[in-house]
Amino acid sequence: MTRALEGKTALVTGSTSGIGQGVVEAFAARGANVVLNGFGRADDIEALRARIATEHGVAARYDTADMSQPDAIEAMVAKAIAEFGAVDILVNNAGIQHVAPIDEFPVEKWDAIIAINLASSFHTIRHALPAMKRRKWGRIINVASAHALVASPYKSAYVAAKHGVAGLTKTVALEVAELGITVNAICPGYVLTPLVKNQIPDTARARGITEEQVVRDVLLAAQSTKQFVTVEQVASLACFLASDDAASITGALLPIDGGWTAH
Ligand code: NAD
Repeated sequence: MTRALEGKTALVTGSTSGIGQGVVEAFAARGANVVLNGFGRADDIEALRARIATEHGVAARYDTADMSQPDAIEAMVAKAIAEFGAVDILVNNAGIQHVAPIDEFPVEKWDAIIAINLASSFHTIRHALPAMKRRKWGRIINVASAHALVASPYKSAYVAAKHGVAGLTKTVALEVAELGITVNAICPGYVLTPLVKNQIPDTARARGITEEQVVRDVLLAAQSTKQFVTVEQVASLACFLASDDAASITGALLPIDGGWTAH
């Protein structure tokens, strides 16, 4: 493994689980210092942080910031910049899901999904950008979704938030295009993480079908490969976007979805 990201600092929101954890591991393996964030048991998170630091010989920090709280986001980014000089690579990944018909959609779930899956990226970006501009180098990678490109029923808040992330990605990319900073969105299809596993029972209830039918006929119905995307595949794309070879990729919404959005 080349240490292509040595000297860089990466902050990955929602990196105590699933895709975010995979991305943080991949960046650390390439020599980047990392800031972890997300929820979970304190012991588990400390074990993860310590293992990443030791295994890869990098600085690994953990920040408890709740991505629904703008003040906490500001403090998290400020602390990372104070310690490392900049957040060179910002990955907006934290996300939650709720599945329900729109006329039964709980208002507090709508508000939480818009805050965590969309507004948090506005806040991390606005606080991280000045230091990226000073260094004339930066990578902003938004983990959006195939649902940034197409919709599915019963996911109104999630699809609205992810389409919002697509617009935010393109807009910020244009604003910073001449400054050595790229802004892209990764749009995964289904990856079998806790976020997906947890929505299987709700989807089964909402559609009146079994959980096995949800996997076969709903989740993987449009995913032409009939395979879940893996965390490692998404992390590998993030590493490429963080590399100098990807300097001309900006404002892009990149599907990694087993052919889902080719339909
Ligand atoms: P996950 O549930 O495994 O991980 C989500 C992470 O976000 C966890 O670390 C969790 O603690 C954190 N998080 C949740 N709420 C938070 C908050 N308020 N503040 C800080 N952290 C918070 O889910 P995942 O599947 O790895 O999802 C990661 C991202 O990938 C999400 O944005 C999701 O929408 C997106 N995505 C996932 C899939 C998939 O199939 N799994 C597909 C497309 C896009």
